[in-house]
Amino acid sequence: MKELLSTKVLAIDFEGCILCEICVELAPHAFRINDAGFVEILDIDVYSDENIHEAVNNCPKDCISWE
Ligand code: SF4
Repeated sequence: MKELLSTKVLAIDFEGCILCEICVELAPHAFRINDAGFVEILDIDVYSDENIHEAVNNCPKDCISWE
């Protein structure tokens, strides 16, 4: 049985996003630019590793948040 390590979920404020791709560079396992040209949060088991925290902290528009 898979252990639930985190109940936090990432959210992106698309109005604030300037598509700088910093989040994609820092945590490519969690973020990507989709075909429609928006940042997409990928479906992974745990959203709490260091790279994701770095992406959240380094987004220049503060548009990645935890819910
Ligand atoms: S780091 Fe922030 S502004 Fe840049 S692409 Fe990611 S969500 Fe958008």
